[in-house]
Amino acid sequence: MSLLIINAKVISPGQELPGAAVLVEGSRIARVYAAGESLPAASETYDAGGKMLMPGFIDPHCHGGMGYEATSDDSRAVRIIAEAKLKEGVTSFCPTTLTLPEEKLAASMRNIEAYRRNPSGSKVLGTHLEGPYINPACTGAQNPAYLRQADLAEVLRLHAISPVALISYAIEMPGSLEFTRALADTGIKASCGHTNATYAQFKAGMELGLSRLTHFCNQMTKLHHREIGLVGAGLYEDTVSIEMICDKIHLSPDMIRLAFKVKPIEKILLISDAMEATGLPDGDYQLGGLAVVVADGAARLASDGALAGSTLKCNTALQNIVEVTGLPLPELVKTTSWNHACDLGISDLGKIEAGFVADLALLDEQFQVAAVFVDGQRRK
Ligand code: FE
Repeated sequence: MSLLIINAKVISPGQELPGAAVLVEGSRIARVYAAGESLPAASETYDAGGKMLMPGFIDPHCHGGMGYEATSDDSRAVRIIAEAKLKEGVTSFCPTTLTLPEEKLAASMRNIEAYRRNPSGSKVLGTHLEGPYINPACTGAQNPAYLRQADLAEVLRLHAISPVALISYAIEMPGSLEFTRALADTGIKASCGHTNATYAQFKAGMELGLSRLTHFCNQMTKLHHREIGLVGAGLYEDTVSIEMICDKIHLSPDMIRLAFKVKPIEKILLISDAMEATGLPDGDYQLGGLAVVVADGAARLASDGALAGSTLKCNTALQNIVEVTGLPLPELVKTTSWNHACDLGISDLGKIEAGFVADLALLDEQFQVAAVFVDGQRRK
């Protein structure tokens, strides 16, 4: 089976090709044709109508949507979330857990694995464990009742149920340095989050392979002129990747501009941090068992008003950074897919080039998603 997508404005890291065509053979991109090149015959042709064809978005930090959490007991939840992610142009994601007891995490992993083996929406690249090894002073919307010391054996038990892609934890907690050292041998990505580490504590983690910050600026040490903290580390250290929730709530437009000015763009990872209210109206919800109120799209704990995930969609995040930074799309599109693939050690996702997986999102000028192809098959 071959598919020829014609009349597309191809936007891939470092290039923009108006009037281009993309030949897909099976699940992979076979060739990209610039405007004017003669096109081959294909078993199916899709007219993109001049819209923007981008690498399908990757979202490595997503707790839920459409009223469901990835950690729900309901075995349908991950499928419902994954199918809704297609509407944002997301072709693969990491269902993200919360600070919960191991039995509950194990049950979540079984549900995630069942979906991962038989996907109908966005594909699962592996689970993101957010917590439970975080700092009690920086829980945000994570339930403090289930905090515990970093435990590689627990992570490996969960990993045996379904692959863990990355884990967010606090590097300054007892046992976290040893945990980081051991994690380096597992292929599981280490990310520092919900943390009040000093810059020096983070640097000690960096020497052991820690190179990533979870929802940059949120629930981490602020930049102070005598202790630059993790916000300072994220801005200063060129090798460190930073997750950014670009909803203009978790990060102000000025902070977004600052990060894009200072960081190598290849180290910026757009995430949604979406919670269950994503795709639904304002109202009363919950996150990991904690009551949450969503008003004007901002999700906050009912108890203390702390931000409790987002209702951000990945296509909106891209639109926001286009508006806020004014940078060209072939640069910004790196932050929605290619950078994620590099961060997770995946070499064939995130570009529209021959040999890459045909995960593609078609967006109009308003960044609304018109079509989505996963492994070369149209799924939206
Ligand atoms: Fe978080």
